[in-house]
Amino acid sequence: MAPRKLAAGNWKMNGDLAALAEIDALVAAHPAPGCEVLICPPAVLLHPMKARVDGGAIALGGQDCHAKASGAHTGDIAAAQLKGVGASYVILGHSERRADHGETDAVVAAKAAAAHAAGLTAIICVGETEAQRDREETLTVIASQLDGSIPEGATAANTVIAYEPVWAIGTGRTPTNDQIAEVHALMRERLAGKVGDASQVRLLYGGSVKPDNAAQIFALPHVDGALVGGASLKAADFGRIIAALDAA
Ligand code: PEP
Repeated sequence: MAPRKLAAGNWKMNGDLAALAEIDALVAAHPAPGCEVLICPPAVLLHPMKARVDGGAIALGGQDCHAKASGAHTGDIAAAQLKGVGASYVILGHSERRADHGETDAVVAAKAAAAHAAGLTAIICVGETEAQRDREETLTVIASQLDGSIPEGATAANTVIAYEPVWAIGTGRTPTNDQIAEVHALMRERLAGKVGDASQVRLLYGGSVKPDNAAQIFALPHVDGALVGGASLKAADFGRIIAALDAA
């Protein structure tokens, strides 16, 4: 049986208390979606957002966590702290964190292990730069990121993989259907032996997913949902993506 599909929204450093109205609108429009719906807002919004979705169909997640459980790490957040305010997921190794904060595969793996220890599901992001794609290194890069970023103890229940080509994030550009399908097939194959039953690991595509291209992406083999940035900020847009995933 195919795993339950997942529509995940990454708000990045966007949104404030007023933006919680978008969550109210999303809940009202999609009270019982067939797919799992997840919003990863800035950490300061997790607690108030939890109050808006409590008991409902929307799960919450963080956008990063520290590899340690606690300690002198100013500005960082521990996985258990995310869990404590209602998160059940955390995005790790997003290309913006890899680029802006120098996160290596080893750092991502350590953070994912911390997330697992705290009972969170880790969404581990991988993706090639445009230069790597031009040099035809995409498959090698993705395989190596998967090998280095997935910790011991990863399972289909506690780990989701998001393929996000760096050049497609926030640019309005997307890979061809064949390019997405090729990488997703490689990821499914590569996960075998690493995460128990690899057929049950959710593989998300991310990078300029919009209401207008969602259906064609969700029709591709081994695509179990999406990690959505900009289009997750507005309930109307994200709602159309959720509807496309439900229909896939
Ligand atoms: C992302 O940041 O994970 C992302 C996919 O962004 P966007 O949908 O805006 O390209």
